Amino acid sequence: MELQVEDTIQWLEKSNEKIQQNKDYLTALDQAIGDSDHGINMSRGFQEVVNQVKSKQYDTVSDVLKDTAMTLMSKVGGASGPLFGTAFLRFSMRVKGIDPISQDAFTKGMEDALAGIIQRGKAATGEKTMVDVWSPVVDYFKGTTIVQADEVAQTAKKAMEQTKEITATKGRASYFKEKSIGHIDPGAASSFYIFEALSEVIKG
Ligand code: ADP
Ligand code: MG
Ligand code: MG
Repeated sequence: MELQVEDTIQWLEKSNEKIQQNKDYLTALDQAIGDSDHGINMSRGFQEVVNQVKSKQYDTVSDVLKDTAMTLMSKVGGASGPLFGTAFLRFSMRVKGIDPISQDAFTKGMEDALAGIIQRGKAATGEKTMVDVWSPVVDYFKGTTIVQADEVAQTAKKAMEQTKEITATKGRASYFKEKSIGHIDPGAASSFYIFEALSEVIKG
């Protein structure tokens, strides 16, 4: 795989499409174990990301990711805004000066993005957060020589579904304790859409 500026913009556009299509679903997930705003937060943030990256000219993938980060941080709000913002910012910093992004550079960017989420949110895996999707996806990239688009989406999907079984111990969902069992984590679901979008871009 290889990502150029146009691929990266396409990744963000496809992510946004999925988030807009599933806005009510994401909000319903957050209604069960949160405060019912995740779909609203993400749809507002990603729409703004797309508006911005489509209206500007970019020379590097790093610059696209940096603008994405800044927009997510300022527009998504809640717990997830700073976390997704940090992820894209760290990704952007790691791939600075590399264009197009090779599989190796992408993997390093993903590693740093996950490290940023963990640093900021202090959640480990198994706490029913977006980390439970990002972490296996990063492991997939680290453990494979040739990335298969379908495997990216499958890895993220399986991980998202597994969050159902977990008792939340971070974020608002942790207030629900064992009652959070049986529900998919909203941030795990939105992360899945982002990786499903990526898999479609890799597929071409
Ligand atoms: P808020 O909970 O402030 O309303 P959102 O509803 O937009 O924010 O986002 C909730 C999502 O954020 C959760 O489903 C979870 O995936 C993620 N999240 C919350 N706290 C943390 C954390 N400490 N570390 C990682 N992810 C977290
Ligand atoms: Mg919420
Ligand atoms: Mg909220």
